[in-house]
Amino acid sequence: MSATALHERLSPPARAFAQSRLGLLIGGDRPEAADGRTFTTYDPGTGRAIADVPLAGGADVERAVRTARAALEDGPWATLLPAERGRLIGRLADLVEANAAELAELEALDNGKPVKYARMMDVTSAVQTLRYAAGWPTKITGETAPVSVPGAFCYTRRIPIGVCAQIVPWNFPLLMAAWKIGPALAAGCTTILKPAEQTPLSALRLGELALEAGIPEGVLNVLTGDGSTGALLVEHPEIDKVAFTGSTPVGREIARTAGGRLVPVTLELGGKSASIILPDADVRAAAAGTYSGIYFNSGQMCNANSRVLVHEAVFDAVVEALVRRMAKARLGHGLAEGTDTGPVVSADQHDRVREYIASGVDEGAELVAGGRSEGLADGGWFVEPTLFASDGSKDLRILREEIFGPVLVVEPFSDTEAIARRANDTEFGLAAGIWTKDLVGAHRLAHRLRAGSVYVNGWGRNDPAAPFGGMKASGLGREQGAEGLNAYLETQSVWLDLGAP
Ligand code: NAP
Ligand code: MG
Repeated sequence: MSATALHERLSPPARAFAQSRLGLLIGGDRPEAADGRTFTTYDPGTGRAIADVPLAGGADVERAVRTARAALEDGPWATLLPAERGRLIGRLADLVEANAAELAELEALDNGKPVKYARMMDVTSAVQTLRYAAGWPTKITGETAPVSVPGAFCYTRRIPIGVCAQIVPWNFPLLMAAWKIGPALAAGCTTILKPAEQTPLSALRLGELALEAGIPEGVLNVLTGDGSTGALLVEHPEIDKVAFTGSTPVGREIARTAGGRLVPVTLELGGKSASIILPDADVRAAAAGTYSGIYFNSGQMCNANSRVLVHEAVFDAVVEALVRRMAKARLGHGLAEGTDTGPVVSADQHDRVREYIASGVDEGAELVAGGRSEGLADGGWFVEPTLFASDGSKDLRILREEIFGPVLVVEPFSDTEAIARRANDTEFGLAAGIWTKDLVGAHRLAHRLRAGSVYVNGWGRNDPAAPFGGMKASGLGREQGAEGLNAYLETQSVWLDLGAP
């Protein structure tokens, strides 16, 4: 089906938005970039341009930061009662839900993912995230500190950290935006959201919905742009907090800049997460969980299950079950009916994944299934779900480095005692998994794994109440849950001298 025909499948609201003049969102305005620069966002399913979007530069960053500062300090946001703040965030959740179909289509068009998953996963989870955040404002409490100073009374207040820069990636654009803005708004902060250049559309729509929900102008600003826009935000002296999700190299750079300015950062970075399939595991369930743990979203997940260590007793059975599932993958455009596997997000990402597949072959891994990236589903940046096997003796790049594509490496093991060390043998520490019927053994093993999340008999479970984040090179801090909220709060101790009794 031609690209034009596919785009005609968009519902009228999604088409109208994609074809509208797309501006930045600063306060209540939708300006072009001050210097008039733009960039193009593409449909990964066809490789064709969707729209031109402003590329925010220095003057735009300046204006957005000033606007967010004014909204923090002088605007109605500063004096809004907690219950009212919660109500507005809840209204935003309702509006995202009411516009779910349109947002899912925009996400499918811009990122390439199948629209049914965008709806089921991305939009639904974004709504849950915002609803969870809406409950927080009325529950942010200080403490009475049990001080031993005669005649003194001390209490703490939890106050918004200030103006935030929130930089998000392209794999779950709307959901990552919700993860960022939910707790920031709940805490009473104001923010500037910078979506990835590959996927700017849903963040711009989210910004509009926030205004429609009644969130005051200037509280949520959206600057589309590229890495230079993100860097300008991080460097800006009036930014009080930086939150970033993306690659480890960019995360390190952001941490260096923020460190120089002593600005707190939370970083949610890459991974090379291993699951361990023990000999007593339910092989069918383990293969199904592993399949979606790596091939969902075309492998573009920070917590992708990209290494699987399988006990030799069940190795062949697991590989066979995976290959059977892979044969059923229906590659196609995200808006086409029946698609369950979309393209990767960009030509760059396509090249990158292709190179990794070639390196796996060159370095002697066995290509068990998939591996093709040309001539698939006309025109887009497609890569087949790909499975490599290795005997555990080789030091492969595909075993060490984050690919961020649909490429899995399975390795057999026999020594169960040594398996935690092998799973931990990576610079990353985002997630890990265990498949077994021995629940005591599972907890023992989980406690030995250096990963921010450990999944037992499932992969990739998530909820706004559960902290998420990485150890080691996978990041700093946690998102979601109380910890996620705390990243947007400062503590102030107030002392009162009561005098001698
Ligand atoms: P990336 O460069 O880290 O991009 C993430 C976000 O940071 C984007 O909004 C990006 O803007 C922005 N950015 C880039 N350079 C910046 C800088 N110097 N200062 C501030 N912000 C900056 O990731 P990518 O290049 O799109 O993807 C490369 C690899 O990163 C992937 O292959 C994957 O391994 C990893 N990745 C991880 C995650 C995750 O969830 N942990 C998500 C995405 C990618 P632009 O997009 O406009 O450059
Ligand atoms: Mg795009």
